[in-house]
Amino acid sequence: LTAAPTLSQGDNLSDTLQRVFGYRDFRDGQQAVIERALAGEDTLVIMPTGGGKSMCYQLPALIMDGVTIVVSPLISLMKDQVDSLIQTGVAAAFINSSQPREVSYQVLRDLHAGLIKLLYISPERVLSHDFQERLSHLNIAMIAIDEAHCISQWGHDFRPEYAALGQLKQAYPHIPLMALTATADQATRHSICERLGIEPYVLLSSFDRPNIRYTVAEKLNAANQLRQFLQTQNGNNGIVYCSSRRRVDDVAQRLRLQGFKAQAYHAGLSQQERAEVQDKFLKDQIEIVVATVAFGMGINKSNVRFVVHYDIPKSIEAYYQETGRAGRDGLDAEAYMLFDPADIGRVKHLIEQSEPGPQQQVEFHKLNSMAAFAEAQTCRRQVLLHYFDESASEPCGNCDICLNPPKQYDGTQDAQKVLSCVYRLKQHFGMHHVIDVLRGSKAANVCDRGHDKLSTWGIGNEKSSEHWISVTRQLIHLGFASQDITRGSSLKLNPAARPVLKSEVALMLAEPRIQLTNTPSSRHR
Ligand code: ADP
Ligand code: ZN
Repeated sequence: LTAAPTLSQGDNLSDTLQRVFGYRDFRDGQQAVIERALAGEDTLVIMPTGGGKSMCYQLPALIMDGVTIVVSPLISLMKDQVDSLIQTGVAAAFINSSQPREVSYQVLRDLHAGLIKLLYISPERVLSHDFQERLSHLNIAMIAIDEAHCISQWGHDFRPEYAALGQLKQAYPHIPLMALTATADQATRHSICERLGIEPYVLLSSFDRPNIRYTVAEKLNAANQLRQFLQTQNGNNGIVYCSSRRRVDDVAQRLRLQGFKAQAYHAGLSQQERAEVQDKFLKDQIEIVVATVAFGMGINKSNVRFVVHYDIPKSIEAYYQETGRAGRDGLDAEAYMLFDPADIGRVKHLIEQSEPGPQQQVEFHKLNSMAAFAEAQTCRRQVLLHYFDESASEPCGNCDICLNPPKQYDGTQDAQKVLSCVYRLKQHFGMHHVIDVLRGSKAANVCDRGHDKLSTWGIGNEKSSEHWISVTRQLIHLGFASQDITRGSSLKLNPAARPVLKSEVALMLAEPRIQLTNTPSSRHR
């Protein structure tokens, strides 16, 4: 390595941007962040994925005297970034556990010789005793902490080794610190600043991803719904997220049988298998990756056209992050989620089994926000942006609610049919059995119990079972009935059901949206 010329302070920032990186204009927020760094100030930078966070520290690193330390948890990203910096002629290097010892020794020698402008390093390593000792001998220009949400237990990806990064500001109070993340609600922001020991100066750029169309469809027959959705995609690339490894394997296999080029990806596969799937996906040799959340951190593929959530994500941050992998090239992309309210109960149950305490409360809170998003009857984008404290004043026109507003109808009769059937079944049976009886099923589990003799047998045969599922879920949601989880999810009537059954009140329900609400968008290339 030879020392890259340090640019003089007098250089116009835009000139440097143009000359070194070849970009004409700064993106939203970049220049303000860079100016703060050059003025020696600390900043928490919140920009959505793809917003151009790296530029915020790369450019000032070139201008400032000394080395900029970039703390990043993602080994694969480190290498990519360093490679492309070297290509543009910037003296960058990384140190991590994946490289041979000789290589890291060489990097350290270059570092002490002042030949490196940007050094990427993992949080564990930067905090190690050995490296702390070295740091004290270096001329440090700035410290940047990427993926800073990992420092907060409010973040969706809390990593204990990040928590200790606060030591850096203590050790180097006068060196500007820049923390960067793509995702942080109010609480996360606060705790990042607190843990890092910086004044809460937050630079927030918009989270809106106008090219992503958000759709939440009620999960009725998930397998069919997924297939129909994928058929509208005409071989585009995309990701299908599922909540468990088993589900990932099942869905991937089913899609292959249906003729899609799909592969599974989860933490149960070997390192090599995972790398292969990732590589093929990047090279467009696989259409669809069916994956757990293990897939994606650091995926830098710009032409992902859709992200499907087969199961509800655990938080809005996770949902935003995962859907954000679609459409990074700015072209139209789809975020399609299948939503079964019962999934919320399942996740709740999992959380209940974790250790009680503040962390558990955080998880409950996040899940509730996610549920509220899925159940929203107003513009999805407004709900999403509002969660990140950004207000979108107008409905977006590019989500399922805007494109296909939920219609209300007088559901009193439907409700009476369901509720009286629950009553006739002595509140001993679950939703699917109730619906089988309503629709006049002659299946053995109905007839053997004599349920085909009930007065409510067949009174709902003019409507599909999907219709009745939707109605029943609404009745549960609105508090007319409830599911007894301890007894096979059998349906029970609540006191509020009485006036409905006696026709004392009328009940408006949302018209079940059975068809796939999603229409293929025309602007795809
Ligand atoms: P993030 O880390 O926020 O997800 P990146 O730093 O990886 O985003 O930047 C995303 C892409 O945007 C990169 O390809 C980067 O080169 C590009 N980029 C960054 N700043 C600019 C700019 N001012 N003009 C054009 N492209 C930019
Ligand atoms: Zn909308």
